[in-house]
Amino acid sequence: MTDVTKLGVLETAKLIREKKVSCEEVVRAYIKNIEEKIVLNAVVEVFDDAIDEAKKVDERVKNGEKLRALEGVPMLIKDNILITGKHAGCASRFMQNFVAPYDATVIAKLRNEGVIFLGRTNMDEFAMGSSTEKSCYGICRNALDTSRVPGGSSGGSASAVGANLACASLGSDTGGSIRQPASYNGVYGVKPTYGRVSRYGLIAFASSLDQIGPITKNIEDNAYLLKVISGKDEHDMTSASASVDDYNEIKSQKSYKFGICDEVEKQLTNLVTKPVYDKIIEKLKKNGCEFVHFSIKDFDLCLPIYYVLSTAEATSNLGRFDGVKYTVRSERADNVPEIYTKSRSEGFGEEVKRRIMLGSYVLSSGYYDAYYNKAKKLQRRLTNQLTDAFKECDAVLLPTTANVAFKIGSKGDNPIDMYLEDLFTTLANITGVPSFSIPCGKGEGDMPLGLQIMCNKFEERKMYEIAKYIEKLLKGENV
Ligand code: GLN
Repeated sequence: MTDVTKLGVLETAKLIREKKVSCEEVVRAYIKNIEEKIVLNAVVEVFDDAIDEAKKVDERVKNGEKLRALEGVPMLIKDNILITGKHAGCASRFMQNFVAPYDATVIAKLRNEGVIFLGRTNMDEFAMGSSTEKSCYGICRNALDTSRVPGGSSGGSASAVGANLACASLGSDTGGSIRQPASYNGVYGVKPTYGRVSRYGLIAFASSLDQIGPITKNIEDNAYLLKVISGKDEHDMTSASASVDDYNEIKSQKSYKFGICDEVEKQLTNLVTKPVYDKIIEKLKKNGCEFVHFSIKDFDLCLPIYYVLSTAEATSNLGRFDGVKYTVRSERADNVPEIYTKSRSEGFGEEVKRRIMLGSYVLSSGYYDAYYNKAKKLQRRLTNQLTDAFKECDAVLLPTTANVAFKIGSKGDNPIDMYLEDLFTTLANITGVPSFSIPCGKGEGDMPLGLQIMCNKFEERKMYEIAKYIEKLLKGENV
């Protein structure tokens, strides 16, 4: 029998359905992997009801009941997505007394399809970071090299999938938090179109940028899971009613027209990613694909725009955590104002406090126009520039990161060094378009690198179609 933990979502569901393996065996095999790879610190809790849930699935199989599409498939969930009755800690010591009173919509949808929730994954506190070094559970490690970071903030979710600790996981992406860790751990991660997936039950970081997305071992699983979790939700007014395609009927065309952004190319000079990126382009050209160059004049402003908008929204979203209704109350507080100030001062970590201060500053009177308003205007300009580019091509290709996963502790104390990790990822969040990171080659230390396939809004179907095409080509298969 092959190692079941190497299999993805759809393969596992099939094996269980065909009675080739019991669900309990699958769940136990994953729990064994989690225990053996405890050094990764990717999983912060294994749910104690996972095995009971697996037994229920086996009972259903035995009784010949009708099985749902993902019956018995074990998944891990980022610590900022609510699962009824489970802790959702956002990797913050401030949140350690919080138990979710309801299911996030994505969880309810996966539950409906028969998914088993195996546990929660490590992350940067409140999803702010790019390395999963800023977590109250301790640092998380890369699935392929434990001396390196797994990326962040969904580092636990990506490391866990890379190390076969679950069939797949869910992460959240505000500025790159699914794609960058996916790239660093050699797995597949998507940031869907803004509105494609309901944010109900996702603990908000920056509401106009946040999206939940699947992290998987292959393209098909990713497409399938996105179809399951997407769609209009009455609990989230920003969720879109755009029809959800059946990603599984994807057939690639013979060739495509790709867009290359001049400003991205300029950034790439001297970067380790460049030769890998160039090789892919060459292969695509040889296969008859066309390339058009376009300019996003404001590309260099992506990071400043992102850090102004995301911190402004974070400031207001995190206002609710005050030691009164949610979060741990300071034991040193003697009066009401002190409950707020002391609880917040003791509860939030340093990076979260930095974001709250930045956000308060850019929203404060006197600076609002100079920062927040300006960033909003530039966001519109940037979106128009990218939308124009999509008139000329099927997808824009760009690297996910500037380099392979870096060594733990190597980014020092300057927060700007960490913010630069988001160089190629924030564009998709600021403009709302979908972007899919797939493994595309290796860099230093034989570590994986990711390629982003970015399409126009709600064109996820085309995005997966192209991913399939590129992957076949990279494997030397006929397309
Ligand atoms: N690294 C980015 C940040 O720290 C993105 C985080 C995210 O997407 N959640 O803000």
